[in-house]
Amino acid sequence: MTPALEAEGLGRCYGRKWALRDCTLSLPAGQVIGLVGPNGAGKTTLLSLAVGLLRPTEGSVRILGRPPRSPGTVAEVGFVAQDKPLYRNLTVAETLRMGAWLNPGWDPRAATERIERIGIPPGQKVGRLSGGQRSQLALAVALGKRPRLLLLDEPVADLDPIARRDFLRTLMAEVAESGVTVVLSSHLLADVERTCEFLVLLSTSHVQLADDTETLLAQHRMVTGPRAAA
Ligand code: ATP
Repeated sequence: MTPALEAEGLGRCYGRKWALRDCTLSLPAGQVIGLVGPNGAGKTTLLSLAVGLLRPTEGSVRILGRPPRSPGTVAEVGFVAQDKPLYRNLTVAETLRMGAWLNPGWDPRAATERIERIGIPPGQKVGRLSGGQRSQLALAVALGKRPRLLLLDEPVADLDPIARRDFLRTLMAEVAESGVTVVLSSHLLADVERTCEFLVLLSTSHVQLADDTETLLAQHRMVTGPRAAA
């Protein structure tokens, strides 16, 4: 099966500072993948390179077997950026309709129903939603085009434990229903170890892959500290 995301010697620098360097990995399709690493490890940089928001300084990246922003890829990849850019003055329903307008073929009714089921009023202005509700809405918009691959950059970082749990539940229900491949980044191992079948640890110097937490931790102690704060 074509990997969801492949990087070969991938690096990106800002001025003289490397945000990501020598990143080589292959992430399997059909799984929920946790991308873990401390603040500043390069998670956002890796995801931004994968969706073509940034160009590599060195090396290469492929997403669903193609270079970023290839015509087919844009339609098949959903991305929720860390700051969840949504228009504050639109209502929830307008946001979903706009998503449909940007992604022809998307019928926003299913997303609207899902949003209503979790208690978000469609007439509410986005600017008045809680952080947890905004995350759920950003997820609904990203899922609207029925992507094969969904990249989520720290989607639960600023949420309280209940909103975090609710978001991960919604996500897992969607995965069970549609089989979408998910890459979920977090600086807290606790967020991803419950949810993910495959883990990638990004440190400032290198990448490690594992399909269970113990192996990952045995290989690298760095992530044990933040876990206690989850
Ligand atoms: P966080 O969990 O805090 O979001 P991250 O793992 O996503 O961190 P990145 O945001 O990719 O890490 O940043 C990696 C490094 O690159 C950091 O040291 C950051 O300060 C630096 N960096 C990121 N963007 C820029 C930029 N536009 N200009 C300069 N340095 C940057």
